[in-house]
Amino acid sequence: AIEVRGLVKSFGDNEVLKGIDLTVTAGEVVCVIGPSGSGKSTLLRSVNRLEEPTGGSILIEGIDITDEDVDIDRVRTRIGMVFQSFNLFPHLSVLGNLTLAQRRVKKRAKAEAEQIAREMLDRVGLAEKADAFPSHLSGGQQQRVAIARALCMKPDMMLFDEPTSALDPELVGEVLQVMRQLADEGMTMLVVTHEMGFAREVGSRLIFMDGGHILEQGDPREVLANPQHPRTQDFLSRVL
Ligand code: ATP
Ligand code: MG
Repeated sequence: AIEVRGLVKSFGDNEVLKGIDLTVTAGEVVCVIGPSGSGKSTLLRSVNRLEEPTGGSILIEGIDITDEDVDIDRVRTRIGMVFQSFNLFPHLSVLGNLTLAQRRVKKRAKAEAEQIAREMLDRVGLAEKADAFPSHLSGGQQQRVAIARALCMKPDMMLFDEPTSALDPELVGEVLQVMRQLADEGMTMLVVTHEMGFAREVGSRLIFMDGGHILEQGDPREVLANPQHPRTQDFLSRVL
């Protein structure tokens, strides 16, 4: 589980997160929506300490990752993260991209790392692309490789920050399909997305953030059909 308690994050005197409380339990798929600059990415990045919190605490499976003594690299291997930009290494083949962190961080032997890589590639429907280079893949394929790369670490949970926002519309579906399959398999997921259809059909909860606060949350169908907060109503009237 992910437990965020009273999370505050400031950049200089700009307080971007103003006391976020959020628990994501095992198997939940929590989707986060909200206007640009509301702090969605900062929240996600704080969860694996790509950002240092200014205040509050974040517990991953009961371990406070804001604690100085915590081995953050070890924690991070349990939390997969997928960004809007795919961040694949262009000079490495797909297999090379999928085995690098396994070998360096997990210290897996080459054969084992490659076997796991092929397994995960198969899961995202790209078994035949092991030897291809990222520049020869479509954006949707590259993002599926990025998801497979995260899965190779055998994470307990996955964070997605607008994973389909950089994609041409016709490539969005194949990435959402992989995410839906992960959700069906019981993966714990925290997903920032503009894909309201995904949030409605796959999300177990939908959170609306604005100005560094969680203003509203609930069953995605409920929130989308019947938003309670005026800011949520305003936001949804502009995006739906
Ligand atoms: P978007 O929908 O555009 O991705 P967001 O909800 O993800 O927006 P964040 O990226 O979390 O928003 O940014 C929230 C605020 O924090 C913004 O005002 C942004 O300028 C500021 N911010 C984010 N990262 C930094 C940083 N490294 N240094 C200074 N300010 C930052
Ligand atoms: Mg963002």
